[in-house]
Amino acid sequence: MERDLLKTPIEFLKGVGPAKADALKTEMGIHTFEDLLHTYPFRYIDRSKFYTVNELQSAAAEVQLRGRITSMQEIGAARKKRLVAQFEDATGRVELVWFKGAQWIAKSLQMGKEYVLFGKPNYFKGKYSFPHPELELAEDFTKSPIQGLQPVYNSTEKLTNKGLNARGISKLTRVLLPQVKGLIRENLPSRILEHYKWPSREAALFEVHFPQSLERLEIARNRLKFEEFYFIQIALLLQKDLKTKQTPGQVFGEVGDTFNNFYKNNLPFELTGAQKRVLKEIRSDSRSGKHMNRLVQGDVGSGKTVVALLSMLIAIDNGFQACLMAPTEILAQQHYNGLAELLEGTPVRIALLTGSTKTARRKEIHADLLNGQLDILVGTHALIEPTVKFRNLGLAVIDEQHRFGVAQRAKLWKKNTIPPHILIMTATPIPRTLAMSLYGDLDISVIDELPPGRQPIKTVHRYDSNRLQVFGFMKDEIAKGRQCYVVYPLIEESSTMDYKDLEDGYESICREFPRPEYQVSIVHGRMKAEDKDAEMQRFAKGETQIMVATTVIEVGVNVPNASLMIIESSERFGLSQLHQLRGRVGRGAEQSYCILMTGNKLSNEAKTRLETMVRTNDGFEIADVDLQLRGPGDLMGTRQSGMLDLKIANLSKDGQLLQLARKEAEGLLQEDPRLEKPEHAQTRTFFVAQNKGKVHWSKIS
Ligand code: ADP
Ligand code: MG
Repeated sequence: MERDLLKTPIEFLKGVGPAKADALKTEMGIHTFEDLLHTYPFRYIDRSKFYTVNELQSAAAEVQLRGRITSMQEIGAARKKRLVAQFEDATGRVELVWFKGAQWIAKSLQMGKEYVLFGKPNYFKGKYSFPHPELELAEDFTKSPIQGLQPVYNSTEKLTNKGLNARGISKLTRVLLPQVKGLIRENLPSRILEHYKWPSREAALFEVHFPQSLERLEIARNRLKFEEFYFIQIALLLQKDLKTKQTPGQVFGEVGDTFNNFYKNNLPFELTGAQKRVLKEIRSDSRSGKHMNRLVQGDVGSGKTVVALLSMLIAIDNGFQACLMAPTEILAQQHYNGLAELLEGTPVRIALLTGSTKTARRKEIHADLLNGQLDILVGTHALIEPTVKFRNLGLAVIDEQHRFGVAQRAKLWKKNTIPPHILIMTATPIPRTLAMSLYGDLDISVIDELPPGRQPIKTVHRYDSNRLQVFGFMKDEIAKGRQCYVVYPLIEESSTMDYKDLEDGYESICREFPRPEYQVSIVHGRMKAEDKDAEMQRFAKGETQIMVATTVIEVGVNVPNASLMIIESSERFGLSQLHQLRGRVGRGAEQSYCILMTGNKLSNEAKTRLETMVRTNDGFEIADVDLQLRGPGDLMGTRQSGMLDLKIANLSKDGQLLQLARKEAEGLLQEDPRLEKPEHAQTRTFFVAQNKGKVHWSKIS
């Protein structure tokens, strides 16, 4: 009965009617009373505060003044007629302007009476003017409901035309709330409400629509944000739980000679604390008998590869094979070279399989995989083709996760009867909050420490007009024996204009850095794989000093002697891409530099990106800025998660509440995995209703 009222179609709300109802449905997705209840104001205007004229500032948002109209005048001819009034308080005077409805307004305003004015001032030639201000007689204002905090709701043009602007929607909530009073059920365990001193669900909803004070509003909003995160986390955790229960994992029971000998004799450095910790986490997963699905996040250069290798060695010690999949041919090749070098002198057998592997070699590899002659296979997407069959695949490592989809992960699963453990390594610094919510079904490890002796990269922003200076700096660095990258944007592989930029750039660099003193390499996506590879190898061996390239070198490429990264037209790159590119330098002991080149004209957003890059080397901080600039959907290139249409919480601002929600959701499910205890009944009811129709949760309903 109670529920039914909340489910009432919106057209039955007083003041709505069929036409408005239609618009509410199509424009805002508001179908029922309940939907309106959960349409939250996106901001509030504080109408408890009054300004005086001499306090106005040129960039001020909406302000509220108290004063009198001292004169009024209609200006201009017929069509362009406007009404101009002078409005004064004890400290000064402003102008009020109406371009529409001048006559009617002139008639309704009373000279000399005290008004409360609300509006956004324009500043022009030393004077403030308010176009179309809201005015209310001061004596009425004290009785009106708009004192104090006034909620502002989203609206659309279509809704506004139907009489539902932000204020109109506010009016509807005012009609609705008294009707549903006493009917809104709690959905959080009372223990949580008590512990965080949060109001009931109903009180919070009332506060959000009818704020009583800023403090109470803040607390109410926090409660609702928490609630939103909490139920999503419960869903993710249950899903993860079901997955691990349904999926047995290979057991890597022991660490044997392959690992131990490598660790003792081949590992060229001491692992960092973070690497050791992550390795331990992988170790304990893979021994547990449960299926591992782990994401390893580590900033560029944090040493993820060696962690992957050591994990693969544990698989081998337990009679399994392992594979490592990279997103590009160059990266796969580099991984293969790097791993093969590290493994020299060990009995571990490793091979490379990519799109350009010759048929004969491919056949050999297929055969060796099946009869167990191969321990590690490195490659690109070619790895997941159905023709590639392993004798006993135990671990699949995916480097640079963001390029692979869930579907591809699923294909890897099928490569063994018991699916291989999955280790995903990403340097895309996904903010922790986002990772937690998007990959709630994965476990997350973070390598949050760089190998010792690395100096932070110095980053500067230079305009194209300073190019000669930049060339001079390149020469100095090369004279010290270092190497440089010069990277051009290639937004679309096919864009001829971008290639022209690259070619022009290459030519001007060849002019500035002539042979035989200098050798210049070039790598781009239109070259054949083997040519690209040959050029990369020349640069890696130090035979060329300058590498002119497109973003094909973005991920993973490792040339420690390169200490200077110049990014051309850097305003065209996104933040995470800039950070990835910069990560190609700073890999050796030498001081490294990154120069961000741009033209003179920059958008505000581009400026923020560049400033962020100059200010910090911290991938997580950069990711947070990126999240704020672009929003989560864009960031991940995916909209598959419910986290992306949050109603009140904000991923980039409410990370702490998300963490809290995660912790509480974990606690809840630990204590009561199926929400069967009476004190969780209301939580369970709400959860089941919210997740109706989603197969995964059926287990607990
Ligand atoms: P990423 O995490 O970006 O994939 P890599 O695995 O390519 O980083 O490692 C970057 C560089 O750091 C490599 O040259 C690697 O050999 C080196 N490296 C990794 N771990 C350590 C360590 N513990 N001490 C010193 N150097 C290390
Ligand atoms: Mg890497």
